[in-house]
Amino acid sequence: MKKEVNNKNNLMDKIISLCKRRGFVFAGSEIYGGLANSWDYGPLGVELKNNIKQLWWKQFVQMRDDVVGIDAALIMNPKVWESSGHISTFSDPLIECKKCKKRFRADQIDLKNCPECKGELGESRQFNLMLKTFLGPIEDKDSIVYFRPETAQAMFVDFKNVLETSRKKLPFGIAQIGKAFRNEITPGNFIFRTREFEQMEIEYFIKEENWQEVFKHWQKEMQSWMIDVLGLKQGSIHELDVPSSELAHYSKKTIDFEYDFPFGKKELYGLAYRTDFDLRNHFKDEVPYKEEGVEPFYPHVIEPTFGVDRSVLAVLCGAYQEEDERIVLKLKPQLAPYKVAVFPLLKNKPELVAKAKEVYDNLKKDFMVAFDDRGNIGKRYYSQDEIGTPYCVTVDFDTLENNEVTVRDRDTTQQEKIKVSELNNYIKEKIYGN
Ligand code: ATP
Repeated sequence: MKKEVNNKNNLMDKIISLCKRRGFVFAGSEIYGGLANSWDYGPLGVELKNNIKQLWWKQFVQMRDDVVGIDAALIMNPKVWESSGHISTFSDPLIECKKCKKRFRADQIDLKNCPECKGELGESRQFNLMLKTFLGPIEDKDSIVYFRPETAQAMFVDFKNVLETSRKKLPFGIAQIGKAFRNEITPGNFIFRTREFEQMEIEYFIKEENWQEVFKHWQKEMQSWMIDVLGLKQGSIHELDVPSSELAHYSKKTIDFEYDFPFGKKELYGLAYRTDFDLRNHFKDEVPYKEEGVEPFYPHVIEPTFGVDRSVLAVLCGAYQEEDERIVLKLKPQLAPYKVAVFPLLKNKPELVAKAKEVYDNLKKDFMVAFDDRGNIGKRYYSQDEIGTPYCVTVDFDTLENNEVTVRDRDTTQQEKIKVSELNNYIKEKIYGN
């Protein structure tokens, strides 16, 4: 048992090291000693993250008739957080060690003494997780505002504006991707828990009587997203029906989708039935939804919520594999930062380099492409395997004769000869299926 835990911790170290070495994720503000678990996405990380966000937006907004998107201001009127209940209830129990002064989340440690120094722990108190700042030049209590702790509230506050401009009828959803901030007591586990992170959320508005059916629909949609789009293994995903004593203040039912991260089984996403709690609290003076033939009413809400950074981490953990001679990220091709890499067989043969550049420029019209002419071909393959590039294309002397290149598949390592004129379509078909 101990060995397994060690191996898994080791896996996390390897993933963090690969992320830094290859430019997926770096420690934020590193040259100044970093800043309390903040992380920056590098050139490859931002591609992976953007691919996830774009696929999500396409699948849940653009390809559906019943969901529209918004991109709201990050700092909202503080009254939003009064009405939503965040000012009074969005808190975690904080406990401090009397000896070393370290702080912990009381619900995350089940010890009587400090886990660090074994000193006596103080009383637990509630600590509000919203990050505060001042808007404008005067720093007094009237200028206090909060960085949003979730993207969700803008979808409720903008409900009427969206309804009137999109002319949607129930059931319909509003989606948003954006940053959220929480003054987490104990950030950690790399990009799993940070104080600044991104969410992809949908508030799906329904008639109360349909909530169970719609909840099931979104449960299936989320399962299919994790397995078919992100490529996570079914056996690594677990659904936890959150016990009623632990439900958030707005929720009548929540399922946490947990993933087997190397540091344990932890929440990846959530699906909640938020009732009409939010719309009722924001639209106190005016019932916001009317339909012909019935009295105006408050729609109920099903909320599927997806953490972007936890998606990136789960994808990296699931894709990382060590084989005899190589480390390979078996990313779904649609998620991979580079779809294809182009190599001239030899760097010092100008005709090979020129032909390889031509192939590269042509591929760039359709894909993110890497170009590498360093060292031997085997090393170049391994270097692309490590960042998950699904296809490598080599231009050799035969190419100059017959216009055929060698395409090597990341997962099988099989090689195939393909005509340059058919290359873009070949890769397109392999990656997108048509
Ligand atoms: P946890 O129990 O892990 O603190 P939560 O239940 O408070 O999470 P939600 O409020 O449901 O999380 O937030 C929705 C999603 O946002 C989560 O499922 C997760 O993917 C992501 N998320 C929440 N907090 C963080 C964080 N501090 N860092 C990164 N992602 C986060």
